[in-house]
Amino acid sequence: MAQETHFFQSEAAELLKMMIHSVYSNKEIFLRELISNASDALDKRRIEVLSSDEYGEYEARIRIERDKEKKTLTITDNGIGMSREEIVNYIGTIAKSGTKEFLNAAKEDADKAGKNSLSAQEMLIGQFGVGFYSTFMVSDKVELVSRRLGASEAWKFESSGDGSYTLEEATLPECGTSVKLYLRSPGEDEGEGEKDYTDEWVLRDIVKKYSDFISYPIVMNCTKWKDKKETVEDEVINSQKAIWYKAEGEVTEDEYREFYRHLSHDWQEPLTRVAINAEGSVNFRGLLFIPRQAPFDLFMNDRSGGISLYIKRVFIMNDCKELIPEYLRFIKGVIDSEDLPLNISREILQEDQRVRVMRRSTLRKLFSSFRKMLESEREKYETFWSAFGRAFKEGVVHDRENAKTILELSLFRSADGDQWTTLDTYKSRMKPDQEGIYYLLGRDISTLKGSPKLEAFSAKGYDVLLLTDPVDEVIMTQTHEYGETKFLNVGSSSVQAETEAERKETSKKLEGFEADFAPLKDKIMKSMSEALSDVRLSARMTSSPACLVSDENTMSLQMEQLMRAMGQNVPPSKRILELNPEHPVIRRLMELSRADDKKVEDYAAVLYDQALILDGATVADPGLFARRLADIMDLALTDKH
Ligand code: ADP
Repeated sequence: MAQETHFFQSEAAELLKMMIHSVYSNKEIFLRELISNASDALDKRRIEVLSSDEYGEYEARIRIERDKEKKTLTITDNGIGMSREEIVNYIGTIAKSGTKEFLNAAKEDADKAGKNSLSAQEMLIGQFGVGFYSTFMVSDKVELVSRRLGASEAWKFESSGDGSYTLEEATLPECGTSVKLYLRSPGEDEGEGEKDYTDEWVLRDIVKKYSDFISYPIVMNCTKWKDKKETVEDEVINSQKAIWYKAEGEVTEDEYREFYRHLSHDWQEPLTRVAINAEGSVNFRGLLFIPRQAPFDLFMNDRSGGISLYIKRVFIMNDCKELIPEYLRFIKGVIDSEDLPLNISREILQEDQRVRVMRRSTLRKLFSSFRKMLESEREKYETFWSAFGRAFKEGVVHDRENAKTILELSLFRSADGDQWTTLDTYKSRMKPDQEGIYYLLGRDISTLKGSPKLEAFSAKGYDVLLLTDPVDEVIMTQTHEYGETKFLNVGSSSVQAETEAERKETSKKLEGFEADFAPLKDKIMKSMSEALSDVRLSARMTSSPACLVSDENTMSLQMEQLMRAMGQNVPPSKRILELNPEHPVIRRLMELSRADDKKVEDYAAVLYDQALILDGATVADPGLFARRLADIMDLALTDKH
């Protein structure tokens, strides 16, 4: 087939331009990126070969071929390779999610800082890693030839990074990918300090620095002296030593960082790492990382990452779900078993007793690391919690066996200040007459902080947990208590900030208002019977006139709205409108009702709508609400001015 010319997707072209004109000083990372891609491709081949008996034996390797004279450098792997379509999709397009956003931000930053500032670009290249495109920092032209496992034909991609690339059919003796770089002459751009990427020692250094742990041999044509004569021989230039088998002291922070980067494709450093060395009935090692930030796909079904399973240092699979519960899906790392057979299948993994033991002991180790972090590195723990708490908490619902531990490790916001609190700290601050751990569910912290439902609790010095994650409601209703202290929903009609004795006194006091209140109650129930199951006087508020509470068994407003947003047909539950008889507005409304004033319904409707807004909900008819409010303002302004 003839050569075809294609154009890069616009973001890809932009990124390439950035690469070509880059003055980034750390250009050598292009080799790390190519080796990392090669290693991933070998992993993928292994997975495909394992799940099929169609393919024969092969010797996995990555090869670096340098040619000083022709100024070319070729990196070849016999991994899974790419089909023509995959080349177009992966190389001609920016597949990496987030690149587009990052690129826009980088451009904006650069524009703001003026044409000469390349800091944002440097950040993009240095931190984000831009994979294959980084080759254009050092090359005039790049040729990629690839043959997909199982295919007989190969495809050649060629580009000078000028916005277009060509594709044509080619040949390759076995499956895999070969990337040939036509290196730019040193001195053509910034010159000084530019490295010669065909030099054996330069390349050895770079491989040592970034890719030593790669588990496949990286072979390079090296110069040797034999019988006083120079010869060229292939040599494996990485130690291939699994980093998780080395003692902590043997590995530098840089090596850990590179390993994490290779594993996670995350441009940020991890928040922390956890090493596991389990010996006994089941022997395995693990090296796990907690990222610093939640990935965008944390709550999506087909997210990437997880734990890679190795058996006796041989890569078996990515994202081994059997080794870690779903609620810890954000953890990245490697677990390497000494005991499992190399030809293990997914089905066997699910049933293997040893895998279960590995999972349990990994979990135990993680919990103890979390606990240690919570106790001695509080700030770090809060970063962890802010990023992943929402996912981690799902464990309370899904992993009943560890629910108590997860609750112990959970952080909560509360009405009392802006600090995170644990349940134990909350309990230690409970007042002696407090009946339980109070909580309030809502959309966001600032809405919750303004809720009238907190008033009586604050007045008594009771703190209230403010819960804003959808899973919180499920946790609270399923768990009921923490260490024998009940969870009590402040938004529930039956929960009051009172002791038994106080309750009696309050009801006596409220009874005193009942006769005055009856006409108002009657009017409200008549006009709003669809939305309300009851209207009552209450001592829940100290300064607000009204709020909405729910029956014990009623779903919260938030959950109702969430379920509707997910397309479920949830009929609105009726709420209870509580009124504060000490408030002048309520007193006046009671008077007006007794006089059978026609305006009472409108005023009550405004109070109800306000109560909805205070709960972070939307009013059913905003136009009507606004008109009623305007009428009230009109009256007030006419009276006073
Ligand atoms: P990244 O590796 O971060 O995803 P790259 O631009 O380096 O970004 O690569 C894009 C995609 O191209 C890879 O995810 C992979 O699917 C494919 N790819 C790159 N290099 C190779 C290779 N040597 N063998 C097979 N596929 C590759």
